[in-house]
Amino acid sequence: MTGASGPQSDDCIFCAASEPGRDELVLARGRVSYVILNLYPYNNGHLMVVPNRHAPNLATLSADEQVELMRFTRHAEMALTEAYAPHGINIGINLGKPAGAGVLDHLHVHLVPRWNGDTNFMTTLGNTRVLPEDLAQGAAKLRPIFERLQKDDV
Ligand SMILES: [Zn+2]
Repeated sequence: MTGASGPQSDDCIFCAASEPGRDELVLARGRVSYVILNLYPYNNGHLMVVPNRHAPNLATLSADEQVELMRFTRHAEMALTEAYAPHGINIGINLGKPAGAGVLDHLHVHLVPRWNGDTNFMTTLGNTRVLPEDLAQGAAKLRPIFERLQKDDV
């Protein structure tokens, strides 16, 4: 539990990952939010910026949460650019089931690196499927970049 930060949900993966040291996919932790790799990525480097609190939408975010969420989103853009040199990046929030939210009621900002012609994650070259980068490998690449960005940008 994160104490004063608000009610958490027991069966919410983002609440679970908000607890310090609990998730090896976490790339960076701030005061009120964190950055985590997507376990089911659309592309290599697909990550999410998440408030610690079980907040369902932007309307319910505190001023602190808004600021840190945007700072981490900025850092994520910079880290992905440095680590993967993508041709583009999708940055988005899905609110509610019809909008495609995989986890309901806990806001998260997706960042998905894109490459010309990638069309989707299951890229095929001839008949060979291009396997995704190992998640641990992606985390090892991105974590030090986030660390440096956080240090330089307080
Ligand atoms: Zn939650």
